[in-house]
Amino acid sequence: MAEFTMELNEDQVGVRDWIHGFAADVMRPAAAEWDEREETPWPVIREAAKIGLYSLDFYAQQFLDPTGLGIPMTLEELFWGDAGLGLAIAGTGLAAIGVFTNGTDEQIGTWVPQMYGDANDVKLAAFCSSEPDAGSDVAAMRTRAVYAEATDEWVLTGTKTWATNGGIADVHVVVAVVDPALGSRGHASFIVPPNTPGLSQGQKFKKHGIRASHTAEVVLDGVRVPGHCLLGGKEKLDERLARARERAAKGGERGRNAAMATFEASRPAVGAQAVGIARAAYEVALDYARTRVQFGRPIIDNQGVAFQLADMRTRIDAARLLVWRASWMAATGKSFTSAEGSMSKLFAGETAKTVTAQAMQILGGNGYTREYPVERMHRDAAIYTIFEGTSEIQRLVIARAVSGVPIR
Ligand SMILES: Cc1cc2nc3c(=O)[nH]c(=O)nc-3n(C[C@H](O)[C@H](O)[C@H](O)COP(=O)(O)OP(=O)(O)OC[C@H]3O[C@@H](n4cnc5c(N)ncnc54)[C@H](O)[C@@H]3O)c2cc1C
Repeated sequence: MAEFTMELNEDQVGVRDWIHGFAADVMRPAAAEWDEREETPWPVIREAAKIGLYSLDFYAQQFLDPTGLGIPMTLEELFWGDAGLGLAIAGTGLAAIGVFTNGTDEQIGTWVPQMYGDANDVKLAAFCSSEPDAGSDVAAMRTRAVYAEATDEWVLTGTKTWATNGGIADVHVVVAVVDPALGSRGHASFIVPPNTPGLSQGQKFKKHGIRASHTAEVVLDGVRVPGHCLLGGKEKLDERLARARERAAKGGERGRNAAMATFEASRPAVGAQAVGIARAAYEVALDYARTRVQFGRPIIDNQGVAFQLADMRTRIDAARLLVWRASWMAATGKSFTSAEGSMSKLFAGETAKTVTAQAMQILGGNGYTREYPVERMHRDAAIYTIFEGTSEIQRLVIARAVSGVPIR
């Protein structure tokens, strides 16, 4: 088992520098344009695919890094480049993780390659869980999956919302209710293969930030998928449902939910994205403070400015430490007894929001304009206290984990 270390090995440094080069040379120059266009940045995704940065091989390699640092290191660099373009490249990973964590080896081998495609024919994937009335309250989900035994098919009906790559993805992973009596324990995940009739894109959302990333509703109108599209398989689902029913009959013992454990493991990846945005804004602010002269001296000569930069850098390093700790815990199979994954996402998300606001303040009027990138970074950072569990929900999870009290 890998020991926790803050020192990247030679291979990791090589990969980090390679991604940094792409972020600096390809993403940074394109960021403002795609933010304005608010469209999927296909040329940038294709460029990433061409060099192997948008590929199943690359992500699998980072995912399997025994130190756990491959994914956070990758995402920090990509999102340092730009968050909207970063999510356009990394969004497929959300759906891929859903298959990696819940699918059988055969399902992983069949579907994950189709989520990425190859450099000549790039594909995307979407993970669809949220619904108009089921955001934080996942148990309120209404999308139903009904098994048609005669044809060994599942029929999916409902509306998903805010899905990254929703409707433009080739492969959709859809979470649906198979037993409404069991709340979130009665959910299962399904693959909807490319071009399946009945799946369509609803409204595409215009957003405050991460505007190069596509976010839309996904409408499922009697979508029929073969039995083998149920992630994990029917036998495993039946066993899980039987256990959940038994627990419910005994008085509803809650226990730890498998989905919760998956979230704990995936949240540090989102935290790493937030660290990348914060670091980018901090660097712009540091440069600016050194060169902007007011009252006859660089503004960094004022403690009021320099101390802000000191706080920004301290928070960013602390956020990275929490992200790396949780990523290492996930990779080495440690249990998240104090919701360390949620801690990392909470702190990193709040850090991105605070640090980008401070950066904007340090740049003064320039910071508020689109002549400088911190205005965009501030808009991009705002989502990091909302998606993948809001900051309030992270606090709820942490408070429950550390206290053992079912706090509401
Ligand atoms: C750009 C974007 C991309 C997204 N991508 C995806 C995706 O790919 N797939 C997907 O499935 N979803 C996605 N989402 C959905 C996202 O995960 C949800 O928006 C998020 O979980 C919050 O749900 P909600 O918006 O319904 O807020 P609500 O749950 O309605 O919350 C509203 C407010 O109430 C607070 N609140 C709610 N309950 C409690 C409580 N018990 N205690 C204290 N405060 C509470 C929240 O913290 C929040 O401040 C995306 C959203 C956006 C905006």
